[in-house]
Amino acid sequence: MAATQIEFVEVGPRDGLQNERTVVSTADKLELINRAIAAGARRIEVTSFVNPTRVPQMADAAEVCAGLPDRSDVSFIGLVMNARGADRAIATGRIDQLGAVAVATDTFAMANQGQTSDGSVDAAKAIIAMAQAAGLTGQATIGAAFGCPFEGEVDEARVIEMARRLAEAGPVEIALADTIGVADPAQVDRLVSAVRAAIHPLPVRVHFHNTRGTGLANVWAAVGAGAGIVDAALGGLGGCPFAPGAAGNVSSEDVVYMLERAHVATGMDLDQLIASSAWLSDIIGRKLPGMVAQAPRFPKSTSA
Ligand code: ZN
Repeated sequence: MAATQIEFVEVGPRDGLQNERTVVSTADKLELINRAIAAGARRIEVTSFVNPTRVPQMADAAEVCAGLPDRSDVSFIGLVMNARGADRAIATGRIDQLGAVAVATDTFAMANQGQTSDGSVDAAKAIIAMAQAAGLTGQATIGAAFGCPFEGEVDEARVIEMARRLAEAGPVEIALADTIGVADPAQVDRLVSAVRAAIHPLPVRVHFHNTRGTGLANVWAAVGAGAGIVDAALGGLGGCPFAPGAAGNVSSEDVVYMLERAHVATGMDLDQLIASSAWLSDIIGRKLPGMVAQAPRFPKSTSA
């Protein structure tokens, strides 16, 4: 375990809220973003620019962007699926980084974004190029990298090849996403190591869902294998409207608790995350899956 620090990315405002039936107000989304910044997050996935009839929760993308705080030290990420979405994101003038998604299998790529897996790689590369042409940066995520809800097992060689092709476009990093929460830590160790070697010196980001309880173990395995950037969502909120049975992201406060206890610095303030998780639970109107926020503080908090 060589890593002493990781970069934390809060994805609650987008991936977290996307699958919630309760439509969260723009003001509450902005509150969530401001709370994430206050807790230390310097990269935040704030919204997605997708078809609002398919993802109604993200219909206020432009309004969210208009309300973002003026923070040059924070990178605001907007997820886009195609050139039209990229145009919308760039037009806000508030997005720093475009997030593009390529999906590892044809069936899921078709369900998620209406194209083949190869088509989704080409689209992601085009989005990264659009970001760069507009003076922004781009990142790429490989969805269903560890397993597909429709096709089952995903060939690791396929994911490595996709990562190589995506790297040609010059993204800031490439992420491996366990969209449906099926990965195991040994698989994560293998695939992160292999992709890292394939795209060196580009860093690897990881994105886990805790559908089957392996989320934190997978974060630990990924960090051990050299993944430098970790996505998480406050409270463990999240899912995917196009992946049957997908559950929440790994919870920000659970990830931060585990890593900080293990002396891997995250730059995040656990007390603030716990307080914000309780706030978010009230907004959503149900108990959130994250565990640390429901447990007694350990060790006892030193802040007021
Ligand atoms: Zn996700």
